[in-house]
Amino acid sequence: MSAAAARRVAILAVGDELVAGQQLDTNSAWLAQALAPLGFEVASVTLLGDEREALVARLGDLVAEHALVVLTGGLGPTLDDLTRFAVADCCGVELERDEAVVAGIRERFAQAGRDCPEANARQALLPRGGSWLENELGTAPGFRLRHPGGAWIVCLPGPPRELQGIFEERLAPWLVGAFPGARPASLAQFFLYGLPESEFAERVGDWMARDADPRIGVCASGRVLKVRFEGRGERVAFEQRVVEFRARFGQAIYSEEHPTTAEALAHELLVRGVTCACAESCTGGEIASRLVAVPGISAVFLEGLVTYSNEAKVRRLGVEPELLERFGAVSPEVAAAMAAGAAASSGARLGISTTGVAGPEGGTPEKPVGLVHVGVSLDGEVRTAELRLPPRGRALIRDWAATSACALALRALAARA
Ligand code: AMP
Ligand code: MG
Repeated sequence: MSAAAARRVAILAVGDELVAGQQLDTNSAWLAQALAPLGFEVASVTLLGDEREALVARLGDLVAEHALVVLTGGLGPTLDDLTRFAVADCCGVELERDEAVVAGIRERFAQAGRDCPEANARQALLPRGGSWLENELGTAPGFRLRHPGGAWIVCLPGPPRELQGIFEERLAPWLVGAFPGARPASLAQFFLYGLPESEFAERVGDWMARDADPRIGVCASGRVLKVRFEGRGERVAFEQRVVEFRARFGQAIYSEEHPTTAEALAHELLVRGVTCACAESCTGGEIASRLVAVPGISAVFLEGLVTYSNEAKVRRLGVEPELLERFGAVSPEVAAAMAAGAAASSGARLGISTTGVAGPEGGTPEKPVGLVHVGVSLDGEVRTAELRLPPRGRALIRDWAATSACALALRALAARA
């Protein structure tokens, strides 16, 4: 088996509710992200309903093509939970009831002051030759079993907390020893703001070729690009590409750690001990809400005002009525005065503001829906940026405006070195 084949993983998420779209398959996404740093390459993700024959057939295909197949779901006590039966069929073995596990399940119920239903004993059925993966957070343990063809099959329960607990406590330590071919990859990530994906593709060039090492993946969402590096070769070459990437995209990179501009901004404010306040119009408290989602932010975040009417901008922030009359509420002049006013009225060093046309109504030829001005005042020095956001609905415009305002604040801080 080649090195690449030795670390190929398939994820198989099982459940009627997943296929029907009633429950999002978050387990596969979580597993894929947890497996990558251990050196595995998730080659496929499959969703299947709770149907024994279909499961056996698909599992048969997956074990032929992957070194490891991780199943999630279908280990519950009810009659529709069939994963263990399908795995036993696929491997051509019987299920055996493990009395120690039955006792453990009874004990869990007793501790909760409840009688253990007989159905739960199904969760103590283990395909012959398998090993349990103990579950400290629920009744259904997971298990692993080697298919006669050589691939490993791992079964984990559906509830995400239980799956994650077993993975971290039981599975990850075992995987590292059992798959020496899965050498942990070198990983890096970059979060970029203000660069369209097409321009990124042009500037990144052949670094993004499918067979390049490190392999670079990009994902665009909400005006932000998430760039992921995965290196399989020499560490030195990887580090060198990381340095080159930083040089090539310098200004656009706002973090190598924090996925959103608000989290990155909160981190920067905390590290630098810079106090902050915001005055929001079209974002209606979204920036404040994102900042206060970060633990510990009370050390630097002083206040957030939603100054929606012209009158509120005047009364709360000291915006000159004359500015509003001359330039209108959606203007760089008013964005600047709002940011300065937020800082002055709260005593914060950094003031952030937004004012724009979120739509769907209220646009004019000069000020169309999607026009947003953001302002930042840092120690009295004010800068603004004009955004012309595509009119894709009020929610997106507000979301992008908040992201952009935090990005502008980050740039203002970065300019201070
Ligand atoms: P099960 O192990 O199939 O009995 O699943 C128990 C519960 O776990 C389900 O009711 C879902 O709420 C949750 N669950 C199952 N599979 C997934 C999945 N792939 N992603 C997220 N949650 C899941
Ligand atoms: Mg289920």
